[in-house]
Amino acid sequence: MMDLFERIKQEGGHEQLLVCSDASSGLKALIAVHDTTLGPALGGCRMWPYASFEAALSDVLRLSRAMTYKAAVSDLPLGGGKSVIWGDAAKDKSKDLLEAFASYVDSLGGRYIVAEDVGISLEDIEWVREKTSYVAGFSVKDGGSGDPSPATAHGVFCGMKACLEEVYGKSSFEGKRVAIQGMGKVGSALAKLLHEAGASLYVSDIDPELVANAIRDYGADPIHGHEVYRVDCDIFAPCALGGIINERSIESLSCRIIAGSANNQLKDLEIASVLDERNILYAPDYVLNAGGLINIAEALEGYDQERAYQKISKIYDRMKTIFALSKTESISTGRAADLLAEKRLKAGKRV
Ligand code: NAD
Repeated sequence: MMDLFERIKQEGGHEQLLVCSDASSGLKALIAVHDTTLGPALGGCRMWPYASFEAALSDVLRLSRAMTYKAAVSDLPLGGGKSVIWGDAAKDKSKDLLEAFASYVDSLGGRYIVAEDVGISLEDIEWVREKTSYVAGFSVKDGGSGDPSPATAHGVFCGMKACLEEVYGKSSFEGKRVAIQGMGKVGSALAKLLHEAGASLYVSDIDPELVANAIRDYGADPIHGHEVYRVDCDIFAPCALGGIINERSIESLSCRIIAGSANNQLKDLEIASVLDERNILYAPDYVLNAGGLINIAEALEGYDQERAYQKISKIYDRMKTIFALSKTESISTGRAADLLAEKRLKAGKRV
């Protein structure tokens, strides 16, 4: 088996990995602090029934590194971190388990700030907050920024405008066809914004009720399973899973733009170059979906929604910078986003 330090080096050179084990509550968790050059590492806690320790380790290392890039490219005074609790959120979650997890977060003394993610709700975060103050994204009534999903959708919507301008010369959604994969918290908020802006929608979700809601509310056309990759549209918006743009799906794509909220949409960065060759404009996911993080970061200094949303709107400008850099350097938009983030990290490195 590969040495853990070698593994960490290959996954992006994380500063710290904390293994959290509490026998009485059954807690098995990992906290990864990837990089604190620009500030404390902020990132959600995911609770998931991973098939193995290896799967949990991969997830936490990959996700925490992505948080560093997301914060850096978004000009936030934050580093990148993430945590995973190994377990089934529906069966294994308890107040004791969340409290034990919170003690581990607290032990890091603020190097890591936790927020919600898949399997961890706003309510769970309130329990965690009883044991540690290193928490973000808690409810509005307590001075937090609440559910980040509407802010994420707002950011995706603003970034999509830059994409439309790049491809069609104007940012109007009027008459444009958008296919959304995943009508969850972000997908449904995005659908509302797009519908109000005049776009026509194709929607897909494994939950038929969410699709039915979109048909009723926005006159959307339902799409089944893999058909969402094939549908002839202007924008394909992945808002469900990661890794969906791969060697197989790329052949089917019939869109001009890929712009959605899902994390790690591309199987790898090579795929970004193939998208370029196919003349499909890719909006780098961690730039486009940073609205939720920007919203949470605002709350660290006293939350003001108007100010937060103004900052989120800048995703439009950031996207334009990335498109310009991609052209001048003859690199993919994915690589251009990485370059911007790395430039900011380098400038922030302590000497
Ligand atoms: P969510 O769980 O509310 O919604 C995801 C939806 O995708 C669910 O309705 C689910 O049924 C659906 N889905 C799952 N597999 C599918 C498939 N194969 N085909 C179609 N639909 C499928 O999650 P969310 O908070 O809306 O987040 C969506 C994506 O955006 C995730 O990848 C998340 O990591 C990312 N993201 C979310 C935020 C945020 O603020 N919530 C911020 C940044 C990134």
